[in-house]
Amino acid sequence: MKLDEALCRALKSRPRLVVLSGAGMSAESGVPIFRGAGGLWEGFRPEDLATPEAFATNPQRVWRWYQWRGQKVSEAQPHKGHQWLARLESEAHLPSFHVVTQNVDRMHQRAGNNGVIELHGNIMTARCTLHCGFTMPSADVPKEDFSCPCGKGMLRPEVVWFGEGLPEEAFSKAGQVLDEASMVWVLGTSSVVYPAAALPGMAAQRGIPVVEINPEETPLSSQVPYSFRCLASEGIEALCQQIMGKENSL
Ligand SMILES: [Zn+2]
Repeated sequence: MKLDEALCRALKSRPRLVVLSGAGMSAESGVPIFRGAGGLWEGFRPEDLATPEAFATNPQRVWRWYQWRGQKVSEAQPHKGHQWLARLESEAHLPSFHVVTQNVDRMHQRAGNNGVIELHGNIMTARCTLHCGFTMPSADVPKEDFSCPCGKGMLRPEVVWFGEGLPEEAFSKAGQVLDEASMVWVLGTSSVVYPAAALPGMAAQRGIPVVEINPEETPLSSQVPYSFRCLASEGIEALCQQIMGKENSL
């Protein structure tokens, strides 16, 4: 990965950095990704499981899927890229640093990042369908009885399902940190999932360095000043070493 002089300068100038991560970041840790061909579980497509209708029809099946996914996530480990981002936050002392993620696996938090903005919620937590405020670990949700202690709602995964809007607070916070950023990294996301996909393009329009790292070209690639074809972990390492000094390694 060859970084030009202007980008190296920008990286060394203590940027106000926002990192936007997507499915490719988690896939590198072996977390199952359900987009695209072959993404079936027990013969069902994610579109048939991750909806309010699917949950209303068969909550047992939907919970079995999420608890299976939660198990897979628990077995996976944060990779080098996650670890670099955690070090960047704790050691680089940038004027501001935020991770905004479309991932629902809490992998950034496990690596050590704080204040991660989760655009699509997370599968490790269960909440009440009626937003009564009750939450508990998804892994502890009983296999058959999903009634919430409030007596009115049901326990469901705290994720955004197809047909649902993004959590307002997370989305507005993401917009705010992106507005204030002086540099944005877009890691392992195909940039096709709206409205999150609009965020990096808007940052690029402000003329700040937006760096895309993705093994494949995406619709965003032509809209941003820097786009690299490589794994997220490799790209993150190269960028972090510019900020923290070449001699740094994990
Ligand atoms: Zn409740």
